[in-house]
Amino acid sequence: MDDPQLFDLSPRHRQVQQAAREVAAKVDPFAAEADEAVEVHQGCLEVLRESGLARYVVPAAYGGHDGVLDPLTIAVVREQLMYSSAHLDSMFGMQGVGSYSLSVGGSDELRQEWLPRVAALDAIAGLALTEPDVGSDLRGVATTIEADGERVRINGRKSFITNGGAADFYCVLGREGEGWSMVLVPADTPGLTVERGADLIAPHILGELTFDDVVVPAGNRLGVPGKAFSLMLQTLAVFRVTVAGSAVGLAQAALDEALRHARTREQFGRPLLALGAVSQGLALSWTEVESARAITYRAAALAKSDPLANLDYSSIAKVSATEAAGRVVDRSVQAMGRFGLVRGAKIERLYRNARPLRVYEGATEVLLDSLARRLGKGGR
Ligand SMILES: Cc1cc2nc3c(=O)[nH]c(=O)nc-3n(C[C@H](O)[C@H](O)[C@H](O)COP(=O)(O)OP(=O)(O)OC[C@H]3O[C@@H](n4cnc5c(N)ncnc54)[C@H](O)[C@@H]3O)c2cc1C
Repeated sequence: MDDPQLFDLSPRHRQVQQAAREVAAKVDPFAAEADEAVEVHQGCLEVLRESGLARYVVPAAYGGHDGVLDPLTIAVVREQLMYSSAHLDSMFGMQGVGSYSLSVGGSDELRQEWLPRVAALDAIAGLALTEPDVGSDLRGVATTIEADGERVRINGRKSFITNGGAADFYCVLGREGEGWSMVLVPADTPGLTVERGADLIAPHILGELTFDDVVVPAGNRLGVPGKAFSLMLQTLAVFRVTVAGSAVGLAQAALDEALRHARTREQFGRPLLALGAVSQGLALSWTEVESARAITYRAAALAKSDPLANLDYSSIAKVSATEAAGRVVDRSVQAMGRFGLVRGAKIERLYRNARPLRVYEGATEVLLDSLARRLGKGGR
């Protein structure tokens, strides 16, 4: 154990964990309402803004907290926020996911304009990659980005965009010649229209974006024209492991909920917890939560030193934690019997909120596919 921080949190991380726990506790009384919201929940926004936690997803030079973003800090915060509310977790996480390509690829002027407001939660960020016909295979995007003198022209459609309609700007991926470019588009740019997105089983702020001859200054470019695909990969390298943090928080909440029920409800003259199958199931869930937490913290600590070089571990953590969350929440519903099936019950909300985690920011099978390719190349 050369570096004990890989296996335990430092005092600094514990401090942030406590701050996030307090934010989650403040949101808890209206978490069920927030998790039904498809627009920004003002109560959540105010609590999160007041906490200053969004500063952890923006570099210190632009109003943030850390010189270089720390995926372990972000994962620990997301774990605590998700324990209470998926809406709260998304609001926090998306400030980072939506702005990271700006943090690493924007001009100094553009960063000064937007990032301090992202850190203060005075501007909401969005990342527009997915299209109606393009999901996992992002090299197939059809949106076009073209140079037009001192300006850039964008045409195309983006689909299932978190914060669509609520965001103040979108970092947009598109095709330019033989390569891929990214550009920051303020939400009020003429030609950009946003329609409300699909209603999900786990409600989410989603928008469908249409770019119809949208023109922005060339200074809004992110990264090198034609070579900005790497910005998107860098975003995933930093934030994928933080989704694992969210999954751990959700799984812990599901386990705690089932445990509470199993301790108090009696059948056959004993608490459910004294019935072998129930207690075995809960013990297995505990095992899975702790294992998921351990790999998540370790992968997040590795991601800080070099996110791209350690992307395999982020993928492993995301697969482990999100798949574990699915199993844990399902077992919890089973332990709660009919009470686990009631609409509006907390466990029912957790059951629905667990499902998208295995799809977005790299579906399980897509991540396993890339890990398998790595194994084939002798990467391990
Ligand atoms: C709640 C939510 C929020 C989202 N927010 C955003 C956002 O803010 N910005 C954004 O750009 N997008 C966003 N998305 C879209 C998300 O990124 C895509 O859903 C995701 O990339 C998967 O694409 P898809 O749904 O089109 O699935 P597809 O690509 O059609 O894949 C369907 C399934 O096929 C399998 N599969 C696909 N490829 C492979 C492969 N190579 N090997 C093995 N199996 C494979 C997987 O099981 C996968 O689940 C969001 C989605 C959700 C659900």
